[in-house]
Amino acid sequence: MPHTASSPIVDLRDLRLDTAISLVGHDAVAHPAPPTPTPTPTQYLQRLIDGLCDLSLKDPLTGLANRRHFQAVLEREIDRVTRSGEAALLLMLDIDRFKQVNDTYGHPAGDRVLQAVARTLSECVRPMDTLARYGGEEFAVVLPACQAAFGKAVAERIRRTIAATPVRIDSTTVLDITISIGGAYALQWIRSTTPLWTDRADHQLYQAKLDGRNRVCIEQQPDSTVTAEEKGMLFGPLYTPSGWGDLTAMNLNDSAH
Ligand code: GH3
Ligand code: MG
Ligand code: MG
Repeated sequence: MPHTASSPIVDLRDLRLDTAISLVGHDAVAHPAPPTPTPTPTQYLQRLIDGLCDLSLKDPLTGLANRRHFQAVLEREIDRVTRSGEAALLLMLDIDRFKQVNDTYGHPAGDRVLQAVARTLSECVRPMDTLARYGGEEFAVVLPACQAAFGKAVAERIRRTIAATPVRIDSTTVLDITISIGGAYALQWIRSTTPLWTDRADHQLYQAKLDGRNRVCIEQQPDSTVTAEEKGMLFGPLYTPSGWGDLTAMNLNDSAH
């Protein structure tokens, strides 16, 4: 329920805000850039909450969405696919032989590679796509409204861009980095779950690694083309070549026919 600053329900002095303020940063809450007039208690609390939300949704090293945020996006996307019928593509991306970077150049150099890869990936995706750091050297992208015919081309473009973007880790060293990508679609006629969808994309990523790395593997689409004869066999005499008759009243999914 909204409350105005003139009728405060909560007195900020009654709250234990020290930890929250030190996490978000006092200046970010009290004097955000560009400088604004001294905030009202409500504005102050809102900024603090926004700052905490930001911290809980973002990966601190790369600034990308973190895994928790990504899971929520995937869940929403599965619902959207079911409602809209537009397929969505999930890509899992893993830096190849990344351990060697750490082992050879040190962990801070590895961190710079992760940041550079994150920046390049951000430039490869559409504003409507969500890019996340999924774990250590693994990233994930969900691409809403991505037709099956385009998925491979999109993933290939991302793979090629990373391979063509050397990463400078210090004044004398530039590294060539490659990634492997696995992808799977959420489709309207197959109700999915977040773990199932990520497992399928992960399986493709594993295949891309097995096939030699620096490559893309996208799950084959189940063939949804069913002949009239097959429909008859599947659904019995109610189906005629001219259509489903009153079966449509049962809200049968068009894409499954
Ligand atoms: P593959 O091609 O099979 O993916 O090999 P890989 O070396 O990339 O994979 P592996 O799983 O053996 O190693 C991943 C490494 O990523 C090990 C871990 O130390 C490193 N790593 C994970 N998180 C971070 C991080 O935040 N910073 C740095 N610098 N390294 C990280
Ligand atoms: Mg990995
Ligand atoms: Mg790796």
